[in-house]
Amino acid sequence: MGQKLIKILMQYFVYENRVHDKAIIHKGDCPFCNFGNGVSDGSCSSKHGWWLGPFDSFIEAKFKATATKRKLVRECLNCSRVK
Ligand SMILES: [Zn+2]
Repeated sequence: MGQKLIKILMQYFVYENRVHDKAIIHKGDCPFCNFGNGVSDGSCSSKHGWWLGPFDSFIEAKFKATATKRKLVRECLNCSRVK
C-alpha cells in the first residue's frame, strides 16, 4: 500500500501595474493573487495591469519583476511575510 506523495509546488506571480508603474511579487496562494486571477474588486484587476507567471521560484519571479523596469519592484506585504 503505497501512499501517494503529493508534491506541493509553490508558485509565484508578478503583478505588473501600468497605472502606478510598479511590479509586485506574490505567492500563488495569496488572496490578492489567487494564482494569477487577482481579486475582482481589488487593486490587482486587469484594469490596472496584468499578471506575469506562474514562476516556480521566487528568484525567477524577482528576475522577471525586475525585468519589467518598473519604478517600484517589491514583494507583496500580505503574502511575503507568511511562510
Ligand atoms: Zn500577495
